[in-house]
Amino acid sequence: MTYDHIMVRFGELSTKGKNKKDFIRVLANNIKNALRDFSNVSIETRFDHIYVVLNGNDPDPIIEILQDVSGIHSLSLVYKTDPDIENLKKVSLELIQKEAGQTFKVKAKRADKTYPIISEDIIRHVAGVILANTNLKVDVHNPDILLSIEIRQEGAYVFCKTYPAAGGYPLGVGGKIMHMLSGGIDSPVAAYLLMRRGIKIECIHFASPPYTNVGVIEKLKDILSKLNKYQPEIRLNIIPFTKIQEEIYRNADESYAITIMRRMMFRLADRLAHRRRCPAISSGESVGQVASQTLESMYTINEVTSLPVLRPVVAMDKVDIIKLARKIDTYDISIRPFEDCCTIFAPKSPKTKPSLEKAKEFEEKFDYETLINEALDNAEVIYVKKEDELF
Ligand code: ATP
Ligand code: MG
Repeated sequence: MTYDHIMVRFGELSTKGKNKKDFIRVLANNIKNALRDFSNVSIETRFDHIYVVLNGNDPDPIIEILQDVSGIHSLSLVYKTDPDIENLKKVSLELIQKEAGQTFKVKAKRADKTYPIISEDIIRHVAGVILANTNLKVDVHNPDILLSIEIRQEGAYVFCKTYPAAGGYPLGVGGKIMHMLSGGIDSPVAAYLLMRRGIKIECIHFASPPYTNVGVIEKLKDILSKLNKYQPEIRLNIIPFTKIQEEIYRNADESYAITIMRRMMFRLADRLAHRRRCPAISSGESVGQVASQTLESMYTINEVTSLPVLRPVVAMDKVDIIKLARKIDTYDISIRPFEDCCTIFAPKSPKTKPSLEKAKEFEEKFDYETLINEALDNAEVIYVKKEDELF
């Protein structure tokens, strides 16, 4: 007798009514995608659980993958069986004898109310047979083994092991966002936090060759292949930014270069978000880190877009951002040396309180609209997919 299903649980709170149906449909699909290397596992969708039918597969690698799927709160390795009480006694005894420990507790849940025996009596019967046939003792407060029985319409599930999972919402239920991805530490972490909330990302990157080298693109691909763990396919739009930057430096006061550069970035992100049907933009900005990230700067920069701009790491400490970057395995890639368009053109004394009027004044000196359209039309698109991982 071996465990034959994995029971997938999702949070109760956010899953009501029609939303719940969408939530389950999207999650089931994401699970199918995450497990597509396991050819013969199948997925069963029920009202408040999803089951992965193992069909003889080793459960360990499957559980490991599922623990990272957004929207799953916990998992149990279960044995599906006939709910007849004599059978439940036999199965429970056999399963608990494979577990290590000295004490146990039995838990029963009768989701199918037509089942003739109430939960307390199921527990009594099953605990009785375990006590009579093993050396295990009952401990209701802190048992070494918790044996659970759930009676449902389609059968009974018996299990001893429950695993925590990532929580959050299934990827895709929150729509799609245009995420500004640099090669730094913060923007991949911001992307991860959004994906955890069920939001799919599409990335925009501003490249300034020859000032920035092509290695940056390899770096971005490596970062995205780490993020493929949470979103199996990510579209990366690379925007040629050199001409715009050169024009900025030709026309604007050095102390306003960063402000105007970022206004151009947000304009490009806004236009591309509209083209790609993303109702919002996101970035890895964090308040106070650099001159362009003061509230006054954000005010002046944000003025170019009416889309919501989500900044998931805005109030996080750098050490905590780094911790997350290590957890999602992007940190070592992010710290590889590279030239960012921000660092190349960084002025000695950027304005920390740039005025909106001043910024507009400098911008009027060149035809940035034409340059923006040209840059968008010449964007290079790369899809980074799960298969691209080289390990
Ligand atoms: P990061 O570590 O993410 O690079 P940072 O602390 O270096 O962030 P900035 O360089 O000021 O901060 O950038 C702030 C945010 O602006 C980035 O997190 C990213 O979302 C966006 N950004 C900066 N440079 C680029 C770029 N070349 N392409 C796309 N987005 C960018
Ligand atoms: Mg940066």
